[in-house]
Parts: sequence; C-alpha cells; structure tokens
Amino acid sequence: MIRRMIGTVDILPEEAHKWQYLEATAREVFNRYQYKEIRTPLFEDFDLFQRSVGETTDIVSKEMYDFYDKGDRHNALRPEGTAGVVRAYIEHKLHGPEYRKPYKLYYMGPMFRYERPQAGRQRQFNQIGVEVFESDNPATDVEVIAMAWSFLEELGVKNLTLYINSLGKPQERQNYLEALTAYFQPLKDQLSASSQTRLEDNPLRILDSKNPEDQALVDEAPKIHEYLGEESLAHFQTVIDMLNVLGIPYKIDERLVRGLDYYQDTIFEIIANDQSIGAQSTVCGGGRYDGLVAQLGGPQTSGVGFGLGVERLLLLLDQQEIEIPVEDPVDVFVVTLGEAVNTTSLQLVQAARNAGLIAERDFMGRGLRAQFRAADRHQAKLTFVLGESELEEGVVQVRNQETSEQESVNIQNLLDDFETTIAPYL
Ligand code: ATP
Ligand code: MG
Repeated sequence: MIRRMIGTVDILPEEAHKWQYLEATAREVFNRYQYKEIRTPLFEDFDLFQRSVGETTDIVSKEMYDFYDKGDRHNALRPEGTAGVVRAYIEHKLHGPEYRKPYKLYYMGPMFRYERPQAGRQRQFNQIGVEVFESDNPATDVEVIAMAWSFLEELGVKNLTLYINSLGKPQERQNYLEALTAYFQPLKDQLSASSQTRLEDNPLRILDSKNPEDQALVDEAPKIHEYLGEESLAHFQTVIDMLNVLGIPYKIDERLVRGLDYYQDTIFEIIANDQSIGAQSTVCGGGRYDGLVAQLGGPQTSGVGFGLGVERLLLLLDQQEIEIPVEDPVDVFVVTLGEAVNTTSLQLVQAARNAGLIAERDFMGRGLRAQFRAADRHQAKLTFVLGESELEEGVVQVRNQETSEQESVNIQNLLDDFETTIAPYL
C-alpha cells in the first residue's frame, strides 16, 4: 500500500469544513480592510528565495524543496508567500500609477519546508498572509497587525500575546550585527554548536536560540535599541503609540529577530501563551521589508506583511474548544423505496437542487428506517417519501421532520415549479 509522504496530511471532509470556515472568515475580515487576493505559483525559481529569504537562513539552507526540471531549471517549492508576491508585484508592474496605493494583497495556500514533522510542524503546511506595498506610514504596520489580531479575535481564539520589536534600518542592523559578533566571539566556546555556526553565518539568529546554554549569554548581549537611529526609533514609537490607541495589547521583545533576512524596522509575532500547540506556539509572524522589492529588481518601495500558520491555528481552535459552525443542513431528503421510483427520485432531487435547495436521496436501496436515519444525519428539514403506491398516485408524502406534519404533494407540480410548490412547507 502506498502511504502519504511523511510530513503531509490529508484534509478529510470532516476537517475540510473547518478550513472553509477559517478561510471564509479571513476573506471577510481582510475585505473590511480592502485587501485583495493574489494567487501565485507553488513553485518558483530557486534564486528568488535565495535572494529574498536569505542564503544563510534555515529556510533556504536546510528546508528547501528544490529540484532541477527536465529543462535543467533550478526550481523550488515555495517555503513562504512573500517572495512570490513580491516577484509578481515587480513582474506585472503593480507599482504603476494606475494601481491602488498602497497596494494591499492577501494570499492563502500551501507552503513547503523540509523539516522534522511534529505537532504544528509539517512539510506541506498552509499559510494565510498579507502584504502591503508603497506605504511607509507606521499606521500601515499597525493596520497589518490589527488585521491579524481581529481575525484571531473574530475566530474567538484566546490566550495570545503579540510580541513586537524593531530591527531598524539596514545600516543600523549591520552595526548591531558587528556589535553582536564582537560580543559573542570571545564567548564562542560557551555557545551551543548551532549557535557557533550562526556566529559565522548570521549572529542575529543566536538571539533566536532556544538552547539553554545560549540563553544566559544572550541575556547579557548588546540590545538592538541602543543601535537604532532617530528615524527608526520614531517609527517604532509611533507604532507603539498607535497600538495603544487601538487598545491592542503587546509586549516589546528585544530578542525577537525572525528567521528571514528581508525584515527591517517593525517585526512582530503572535504567540499562544499555553503549550496547547506544543513547542510550536508561534501562530503568526510578520514585519516590514522596505528593501526587498528593490533587492529583487523592482523600484525602491516599502512593504509590510504577515504570514499565519493555518494548521497551528486549527490546533489552537481545537485545544480551546472553539466551536466551528457545522455544515448546512439538507433541505430535502428523498426517501426512495423500490426500483420503480429510481428515476422519479432523481428528477425530484435535481428539481430541488435547480431551485437552489440542498437535496439528497437514497442511492443504496436501503429500508425505510435506515433511510430516515440517513435523513436525520443530514439534518433534513423535509423528507419526501416516494414508494410505488405514491408513484402510481403521482404524489410524494412531504414530511416536516421537526413537526412531523405530513401532506401529499403532486409530483408534477414539484417538477414544474419546485420553488413555489415547496414554499409552504419549508
Ligand atoms: P518556527 O520558528 O516555528 O519554525 P518560522 O519562523 O519558521 O516558525 P515563519 O516563516 O514566520 O515561521 O512562518 C509563519 C508561520 O507559518 C509560523 O508562525 C507558523 O505558524 C507557520 N509555520 C512555519 N513553518 C511551519 C511548518 N513547518 N508547519 C506548520 N506551520 C508552519
Ligand atoms: Mg521555521
């Protein structure tokens, strides 16, 4: 037997309605903020991710699903959403004067990372994300955060904390990197093995280390805010002030760095306070990336966005026992008794469906009681009982499942004008 690949899941119909609900809620909330959907390919040129996410990041150096195709092109399955959106933004010149400003987008879909699978961590997983181009107004940073926050609130998720930090401008970040290197270099032997490598590749990421050996050293390390210039500090302060005004709670976390190279200024994460989704408690992460569009060959313009892990969000909803609306009940269930009524039964469900109703029937030749149980499972509002004697009389027994009231209704009338004929019974 062939099984699914490790790190992938099948979303079965029993789960799929939760996904639909979550996605519908996201669309509804994002529409209020006037973000429009973009759908970009699941695979891109490998170089796109190397040049945006960054060569030394875990995502590019360890987690990429990349392959050479039959034309010897180096492909990669997308590990995140921003790079593809930025590529499309540049390729279609969406920065042109004819487009809305700022240009606000959202996406949802699968991402791929070669990681060790565990609860809340898969090799194919889904993100919902947003990107805004062309606004360096701190109100845009806050709009993006507020949108993520209200999406989660709308779903009823509790126990979340918003952590926020600033990485400053690229030069400030560079100065800070040098200070960090100077601080960690003499302590190299005391660092964990992976942080020793990080010291070579990207010392910023040592701050991200969850290794207890590193923690104490990290606590004493220089702080980023000492390296931020006036402009960066002012931007960050405005973001904080605006979060206060909107009443969105946050914690400033000077250790927050995020695992992608393209961020500058505001960065944030939304984290579940309890251990309900295991160690993988970050639900949403994002920030500002003003250099990225230019870095990928577009004009110098700003960007800000977030990516939210849908599987982790669903785990949270489950853990917090948040109710997800059940699927729509069936309007009409046709209890179909005997070969002779097979065609008429089919005509009746078809007429109901053409009238915009949700309709189902028996296909299995089950007995009367089993069919009524099936109707209950579908939460049918009405059942039609159709046997050979009804067919001879040209009627069905229409039964209201709630009140048990029952009446004969002419089949031809139903087929001629289902909507009007059934209206008094629904
Ligand atoms: P982590 O530190 O948990 O690896 P990350 O920093 O790599 O997260 P991002 O690149 O910021 O994650 O992606 C945004 C969100 O996507 C994460 O907060 C998380 O909810 C989700 N996510 C990331 N990787 C995975 C994965 N392998 N499986 C499921 N969800 C994931
Ligand atoms: Mg990761």
